[in-house]
Amino acid sequence: MKRGKKCPDCKEVNDSGASFCVWCGTNISDVTIGDHPEEETTRRNIDNSFPGTPVTYVSRYKTAIFVSNLVSFFGWVLVAMGVLFAVIGLYSSLSMIGMLPDLGTAVSGLFLVMGGQITKATVDNADHTREILQRLPER
Ligand SMILES: [Zn+2]
Repeated sequence: MKRGKKCPDCKEVNDSGASFCVWCGTNISDVTIGDHPEEETTRRNIDNSFPGTPVTYVSRYKTAIFVSNLVSFFGWVLVAMGVLFAVIGLYSSLSMIGMLPDLGTAVSGLFLVMGGQITKATVDNADHTREILQRLPER
């Protein structure tokens, strides 16, 4: 149960102290405070506030995504090259010490991949936050 004022216009339940409905702006200062079952307090489905609007997902950070993909790609190339040269070095010189610079290259490559993925995650997060803000009902 939620105690509050039920809007006569849109049927949403507002806080007891509210003067105007937070959902549609109707003056509810004269509405009597009462107890309402939980299902009456359920907020409107956010999708319904934009009827007929297809869910389009267009990133504003195309360049950042492109760059982060590029960085990840070069990272993997470095990893592959480092591992390859390390294996070749091991077979040709039969010494573990000769592998170290190549393994260093592979590790740097991994960090590049990581950096690229972090950038992409940040960009995705920014896009999703923007979309959430757009889908919130206008107050
Ligand atoms: Zn209302």
